[in-house]
Parts: sequence; C-alpha cells; structure tokens
Amino acid sequence: SGLPPAKGLSPFRNPDWGRGYWIVKPSRLFLSERVFLTYMTIYSKVIGRLAPSPTGFLHLGNAWAFFLAWLGARSRAGGLILRMEDIDPVRSRSEYATAIMEDLRWLGLDWDGEVYVQSQRLDLYARAIAGLEAKGLVYPCYCTRKELRELASAPHMALSVGQGGGVGDLGAPYSGACRNLTLADRARLEAQGRRPCLRLEHPAQDMHIVDLVQGECGFKGEESGGDFALRRSDGVFAYQLAVSVDDAAMGVNQVVRGCDILASTPRQIYLLGLLGGDVPEYAHVPLLLDAEGERLAKRHNSLRLTTLRESGVAPEQVIGWLAWLAGLQDIARPAKPSEFLSAFDFSRLPKENIILGRETLPDFIP
Ligand code: GLU
Repeated sequence: SGLPPAKGLSPFRNPDWGRGYWIVKPSRLFLSERVFLTYMTIYSKVIGRLAPSPTGFLHLGNAWAFFLAWLGARSRAGGLILRMEDIDPVRSRSEYATAIMEDLRWLGLDWDGEVYVQSQRLDLYARAIAGLEAKGLVYPCYCTRKELRELASAPHMALSVGQGGGVGDLGAPYSGACRNLTLADRARLEAQGRRPCLRLEHPAQDMHIVDLVQGECGFKGEESGGDFALRRSDGVFAYQLAVSVDDAAMGVNQVVRGCDILASTPRQIYLLGLLGGDVPEYAHVPLLLDAEGERLAKRHNSLRLTTLRESGVAPEQVIGWLAWLAGLQDIARPAKPSEFLSAFDFSRLPKENIILGRETLPDFIP
C-alpha cells in the first residue's frame, strides 16, 4: 500500500463520506449499489499518521499511542504516514529521529513511503501563512509572555499561555490586544525591539466532534484558545500550523493521538477549514501514567524502548502487553501487531488514562 511519492500529496484526497460525497454522488446514478460501494471503499481509504516529535527517546506510552494509530489505519487496510515533527530546532535531535524509527521497526509498526520531515517543509508553512495573511486573517502580536500571563485571569486557563503553540497547549484565550494596532503602533513597538509572533484570528465558535475513543466531545467557543499563534516571535512555526498544513497536504483522514492533545482539536479543525483540508476522524487515546499519576517522560528510563531492547526484551512481549491494555486479549501473551488487526475496535479502548501500577506494569519491567 505504498503511498505515492514526493510532495506529500495523496491521490486519496477527500476520503470521507462528508465532503467527498458531493463529488461522488452523481456517479451513483450510473452505478449499481455494489459497484458504488466498492468505489467508495477504495476511495475512502484511511490515511493515518504517526507523528513523533524527535525530542527524546520513545517510551512505552509512545509505543501505546503508535500501536493504536497503526491498528487504526491497518485494520482498515489504510495507509500510514510517518512524519517527524521537528519544527522546534532547539528541542529536536536527529539521533532521536533515528532511534524512533528503529524502535518502530523493532516493534513491527511499519509505515508507507518516505518519512516526512517537518524541518524540510518550512516553505510550505510559510506559504500557508502568506495565504492566510492575504485573506486578512493574520496579524502581528507584540505581547510578551509576561503580558500574556497577566492577561490570563481565569485560574484554569493560567497554564501555558505563551506565543508558541506547543502540543496541547491552550492558554487563556488571547484578548486580541494587538488585533487592531495601527501601522504607527507597530512601528513604535518594533522600535522598542519587540519581535512579533503571528496570530490567526479565530472567532469563538462552539464545536463538536464524535471522537472514536472519547465519544461526543463538545468544545465551548470561549475555551478554544482565541486568536492563536501560527509563528512564534523567534520565527519557529507553531505546532498547530504545521500539523494542520501537513494533515491537509497529506490527505490524512484519521488522527490517532494522546488525549492530552484533545484541546488542540478545535483550532486544528478551524485551520483545516481555512487551508482547504477535510476534517479527519479523531481518536484521542488515553495516556499511560506512572504510579504517581504523572505522564511518562524522559526520566522514566526503565520504560524507554531502547532500554528494553538492550536488556533483551522481545518486541512481541511489548506488543502483547499493549494489546492486553487495549482489551484485545485477556492476558499479556507475546504477539505480533498483525494478530490484532481483525479484532481491533477503538470503541473498546478505555477512555480514562491508565496508571501503570503493580497490576498493570508488564512483567518484563524489572
Ligand atoms: N508531534 C506531536 C507529539 O509528539 C503529536 C502531534 C499530533 O499527533 O497531532 O506529541
């Protein structure tokens, strides 16, 4: 199921029944039901993606999310893209990218075609911003982090304001302070040495998705982040922009990722609409947490895939344990990923984050 080549464009655009329907519908008049359905099946091909950020080594929590993303696409004979999300030049390392690919291969999680690397696609992101600027939807924002923090009044929103748009960040909705600056205002702020980030106007609108794992999710307009950054003041493109440009360009129609990113989804749906991409189906899978309820992170050395591999753990042990966590088998019997293709169903996954305690930790962890 090799995805066709370069440029990141897939022939399977408009894969869902929503938007594509209007293109396909007329042909229904001329085709028998069966031929029509076959046609739809071919053209509704799932395109999923694995989108690691090479900012560290993969741990069991990443393996969990990638295994489920792999199953989501492959259980429907879909295509799967591997995309290195290395737009943050400070935190990303090529050693990590290499190790991530080795880990995925070791686990038996394959992908199609070339590996897409975000740091090689910067011109695409710049062009997308230029297109949005041409529509008058983008403005420079000179607010500093400190000012933004002060603007964040609601207690539950005081986290991670900032200009950047990291993964899953949802600061206080931006007040719009810089939206109506005059050219003279901008010149004055630039003269003070301030460098702007670029913000997208983002009207507050209520949104609703039916997530394959979480079910119905409603998002209140006022909680969807307000005007958000597309490019940071240091020139780095924001995660929200890069991920949306790429999902649109690559024809991704299934997004499987940790539920820590759920809050970003309304912004991405909004951006996809502006960029002419289709809204994918979403599966926000629970996170694996350590016994203290913290997300797995770099410091959990013993749960790192490279550590496990080096200590002689077999990939089938890891996969078998993940499949057990996902409710795909009753015991953590070692297995290969392909053994679960026919049984896989997102709706059987737990919705709640999973704590790795004595009963849940795999026995291959010392
Ligand atoms: N690169 C992101 C991460 O490492 C994932 C982004 C996404 O799946 O949308 O968390």
